[in-house]
Amino acid sequence: MMFQNNFRWLIIASLFFSGTVSRAHEGHEYGPADPSVRVWTFADTGAHIHGAYVGSRDGKVQVRRTDGTVISLEIEKLTILDQKWIERKVAQVKEINENTTPIHSEVKLVVANVPSKPEIAETFEPFAKLNAVKYRQDENFFYVESNSMPDHRMMVGITAWQQQVPIPQPYFGDNAWRIPLEPVVAKNPLSAKSHFFRGAIALAANGVPIFNPIKNDGRTDTLLAGELDEFGGHCGRGDDYHYHIAPTHLQEIVGKDRPIAYALDGYPIYGYTEPDGSEVQGLDEFNGHSTPQLGYHYHATRKYPYLNGGFHGEVKEVDGQVDPQPRAGGVREAPAGTKSFAISLWHTAPDQEKSYWLIYNIPATANHLVKNDKTTGTVGLNDKKRASYDPMCSKGPGAKTYHISVYALSSEVELAKGSDNRAALLKAIKGITLAEKTLDFVYERTK
Ligand SMILES: [Zn+2]
Ligand SMILES: [Zn+2]
Repeated sequence: MMFQNNFRWLIIASLFFSGTVSRAHEGHEYGPADPSVRVWTFADTGAHIHGAYVGSRDGKVQVRRTDGTVISLEIEKLTILDQKWIERKVAQVKEINENTTPIHSEVKLVVANVPSKPEIAETFEPFAKLNAVKYRQDENFFYVESNSMPDHRMMVGITAWQQQVPIPQPYFGDNAWRIPLEPVVAKNPLSAKSHFFRGAIALAANGVPIFNPIKNDGRTDTLLAGELDEFGGHCGRGDDYHYHIAPTHLQEIVGKDRPIAYALDGYPIYGYTEPDGSEVQGLDEFNGHSTPQLGYHYHATRKYPYLNGGFHGEVKEVDGQVDPQPRAGGVREAPAGTKSFAISLWHTAPDQEKSYWLIYNIPATANHLVKNDKTTGTVGLNDKKRASYDPMCSKGPGAKTYHISVYALSSEVELAKGSDNRAALLKAIKGITLAEKTLDFVYERTK
């Protein structure tokens, strides 16, 4: 089972991470019959209700079910994605109501003097409202700040793993993403088939960078190779989460008529269809074309190149990547005074806490464990009273959350052999823990 074979490298990437695997449910497509019907999901049970949004007030959302009945759901009990969808709907309705207010001519004059928000801001606005991104602009560029951690679960569905875990990235301040406000048609358009195998080629509306679908070896299609999760993303060597295909799942949040991303040359990337829902026609080799309404723009496709397959617009290439672009941050240092580390793999079952794997007295100099490492530190006892890893056996349906905790300790730990289990460790490290961090990951049986 993939889960058992692959869990060890979860430790490898970093000893201090603040990434948690989000449990947000992703199944929110519009129903095929009635476009206003969507799927509502209860956060705790995962149960679904199909229905159209009617309205929301006093913490409840009214949903018209497909049989015509209107029911009231407690917003708090729905998934974060559902909650955000409602938030956005409320904002949209408010905006429409406000825009119908007649504007006096004096007011119009004042408004005319305020520099208008660039078109590109509309794509990032929904995520700015959710505090996932921040944006600003100067004369030439639009800047987007983010930590590149999307609001959906990550790393689920990968079959060819890169042995990394997502860590928030410092794409802030001088290290923000930069997109030209006025794209310039390139004299020599560069193809992503032969260029840009490093770094990002586009930025998604949620502040997550999008890399070339072809890996840095210049030939592997990351999607076909099974290296991408269910949202088309994964982590790179810097533990930086990024997509490799167009993030069409964002369409629901930005709106069907908005770009879901911007290529780093400044041209927008739309979804599988035109903003009015009509079929996309006549794409060039970079997945782009010009229409009277939008001018030049790219589209998402289900097959290669998936998004902009190069740059119609001007970009500078340095060392195989668009330049300049933000740097990903490496693994963080352990706190000063750290003398040893301990790692525990555990799980809270309804009736008890379970411990599957425990290592302590890992030298402070270690910043990773290689796969199948059995010589670093001391292996403590698992619940079966053996000094080894005990495979987790997920029983029954539903998602189970497991935890990997890493502790930075100000000294080594002395535990009596034969009773060095998780409980003994937790007791022993009470006064010597300088820092700790837990990575949660969710395993859901498919059968
Ligand atoms: Zn990648
Ligand atoms: Zn188009």
